[in-house]
Amino acid sequence: MALQGKQKTYDSLRRNIRAVITRICCQISKFGIANLSAVFHPEIEKLPLAKLRQLQTERLTELVPYLYNRVPFYKKKLDEHGIHPLAIKTIDDIHLLPFTKKADLRDNYPFGLFAVPQQEMARIHCSSGTTGKPTVVAYTKHDLDVFSDTVARSLAAAGCKPGMILQNAYGYGLFTGGLGIHYGAEKLGMTVVPISGGGTDRQLMLLQDFKPEALCCTPSYAQTLAQELVKRNIPLENINLRFGILGAEPWTEVVRTEVEKGLGLTATNIYGLSEIMGPGISQEDYEEKGTGCYIWEDHYFPEIVDKDTGTPVKEGEYGVLIFTTLTKKGMPMLRYWTNDITNIYYDKAGKRTHVKMGPIRGRADDMLIIRGVNLFHTQVEDILNGMPKLSANYQLIVRHEGAMDEVEVKVELAEQLFHELKLEDATDIQNDEQVKAIGHAFSKKIKDNIGLTMRISIVGINEIPRSEGGKLNRIVDLRKLK
Ligand code: ADP
Repeated sequence: MALQGKQKTYDSLRRNIRAVITRICCQISKFGIANLSAVFHPEIEKLPLAKLRQLQTERLTELVPYLYNRVPFYKKKLDEHGIHPLAIKTIDDIHLLPFTKKADLRDNYPFGLFAVPQQEMARIHCSSGTTGKPTVVAYTKHDLDVFSDTVARSLAAAGCKPGMILQNAYGYGLFTGGLGIHYGAEKLGMTVVPISGGGTDRQLMLLQDFKPEALCCTPSYAQTLAQELVKRNIPLENINLRFGILGAEPWTEVVRTEVEKGLGLTATNIYGLSEIMGPGISQEDYEEKGTGCYIWEDHYFPEIVDKDTGTPVKEGEYGVLIFTTLTKKGMPMLRYWTNDITNIYYDKAGKRTHVKMGPIRGRADDMLIIRGVNLFHTQVEDILNGMPKLSANYQLIVRHEGAMDEVEVKVELAEQLFHELKLEDATDIQNDEQVKAIGHAFSKKIKDNIGLTMRISIVGINEIPRSEGGKLNRIVDLRKLK
């Protein structure tokens, strides 16, 4: 009896201690201190770096002979470079391998880079090539599992939890965004609303009726939704969003602030590309906003190389982002040249051990050279960030006029000012004295900071066309059309 009494006291003590610990944990997450339960796969996401390198070595040394023996394109390429597949012994040897470029995918259209018979592929997607044939990518069942797994990790890092409703406004179809997010969200245990892109009336209706806590879409479409709420006098209390997972195009802190305020959520960046997998190659943690996106490097091995020489740069330096798919079976990629310009670095203060990448600064292929000056559109964007009377929606139009290249910056007026000034049409905007002064100030800042004179055209809200997927094409280079 005495023993039973002691056991009871012990049990109740244990229960009390557990209750106190739970309460402390709740308080910690309320005060915004790292909520570690958001880590989806702690054993992988927090793997010590030495172990991560070991895993990457195991995977790379398996991948190279796999590709050599199965894909004639890779056999030929490695032979041409005089690389025997068994010469790759550790992950540090990766720089010995040749790059794969988008043109290689196009040259092997449609199924030339498959490493398994087509019958073993579970799904085929295409990237939205605007000219000519699309780029084909294909996945085995195993690949789709990895895809879902890394998207689930990404959504968890963004703040999503099992049971939450997710309104998935990425396009479904050949584009990898919609289905990629969809299956990852299901894997995390979320309730997915597969609404796809566009159809703003319906988006707004479901935001109010289903009250999802999470939204996936492009940042420019999130801006549209925020603007439409204001336009239609829908109070923020009518919706229940908490997390926005935004990506597929470059965006800035100004857009983040606008979307977070307009939709009442915490917005994080998700990055990806079809050739490597799709969305969820890397993701920002909702409690580490602004410090970069974690790259899930147990599956997608990143490098940064100099855009002209292809040689690796030091940690933190900018260059072209390269990825090797360490675990893909259907259509693996060796050192895929993304053309995206960014940097990668380790963040010792972060929750996870994986490397982080900064925002995409531009594309190696869309770096403009204007009268001898190298120009990324993000340089103009950085200046725009300091101009609250202009919106973050802009486009650079490049023309060859006379003997010179000319750049016109088309930018939408900030919504609030546009309404305040009660401007009806383009002529009103052009003739307004305040708008003219803003244009002059913007032009001067560009000249002072970048060293180029650009023509500024300020237009009304939503005047710059968005593509079907909601992306805003930042550069229209009319020189190429001649
Ligand atoms: P497409 O858009 O042509 O259909 P993808 O979906 O594969 O093809 O597009 C991938 C590209 O989109 C990336 O290489 C990058 O340039 C851009 N991208 C994707 N996510 C982001 C992001 N979060 N920030 C900046 N650019 C992004």
